[in-house]
Amino acid sequence: MSHEIAVLPGDGIGREVTPAAVDVLDALDVEFGFADCEAGDAVAEEQGTPLPEETVETVREADATLFGAVGETAADVILPLRDVVGSYANVRPARAYPGVDALQPETDLVFVRENTEGVYSGIENEIAPGVTTLTRVVTDDASRRIAEFAFDYAEERGSDVTVAHKSNVMRVTDGQYLESVRAVGDERGEEYDEALMDALAMHLVLRPEEYDVVCCPNLAGDVLSDLAAGLVGGLGLLPSANVGDDNALFEPVHGSAPDIAGQGVANPAAAILSAAMLLEWLGEDEAGEQVRTAVEGVLSDGPRTPDLGGDASTDDVTEAVVDRL
Ligand code: ATP
Ligand code: MG
Repeated sequence: MSHEIAVLPGDGIGREVTPAAVDVLDALDVEFGFADCEAGDAVAEEQGTPLPEETVETVREADATLFGAVGETAADVILPLRDVVGSYANVRPARAYPGVDALQPETDLVFVRENTEGVYSGIENEIAPGVTTLTRVVTDDASRRIAEFAFDYAEERGSDVTVAHKSNVMRVTDGQYLESVRAVGDERGEEYDEALMDALAMHLVLRPEEYDVVCCPNLAGDVLSDLAAGLVGGLGLLPSANVGDDNALFEPVHGSAPDIAGQGVANPAAAILSAAMLLEWLGEDEAGEQVRTAVEGVLSDGPRTPDLGGDASTDDVTEAVVDRL
């Protein structure tokens, strides 16, 4: 059976690294149908909207979406698209690779970030001149759902869960989150650690090897996963998944990188590793592992793009990955 994939390169280096990921998928012994679609700054200029209805439909109907990056209009594209795929979990692995300079070469962890509420509720107001508020929404449903996801994910990896929170300050909202996570943990008979997110940030910098799966409220997941990106050697390496019940969207953590766009030197590893996550989500575990191993080999032996100290192009690296498949 063929997997139908919506391909949404977007802007800037999204247009360079997304085709690289498609080339890699094409080289596998797995059948795909690719539906190209547009979103972002360029299409906004042509059509007056950064997210054409046609793109929304293509993403809705696809089995999964491969997303590149979007520039100025990012918030108007990626937030609605996460809704379209019903994604409630943002999965961000951060690991160091042999052959790549990293602040903490033992890092190998995965952030499971709640993706629907918290301070991203969008409920912000100026209640009087110079006085503003933000409503942080935390529900039992969403907290249980992210806890179930994190425990399932850890079970598959054979790893431990750490639950990040700040319930000593946000007593009601993070109190709810923690209560819900604990309820799920008790029901399932799970053993896990709880950590205050500020202390956790320090421990992650000093001893990242002590952590596996970190379950986070929305904003904490955003901040802590970028911190971890700094530990492993840069944005060009970090893939991510936005996962819902029956649809998902995969994207490199990096943005459109206007400073290097059009030069053909963007590191395609993050996009290709996002494609590996897509394969695993589709149940193509063997192919996913194959891609990951090929990327690891290239990161270790070269060729490497300039962000990793090499002088290879995006195409050179992509060809090297395809050769290893
Ligand atoms: P955006 O607003 O789209 O996020 P940005 O200017 O913040 O754009 P990012 O894509 O977030 O750019 O990248 C931040 C820095 O990391 C830039 O200097 C960029 O060149 C570099 N970078 C990001 N991704 C890659 C990549 N895949 N390969 C090489 N360098 C990258
Ligand atoms: Mg950016």
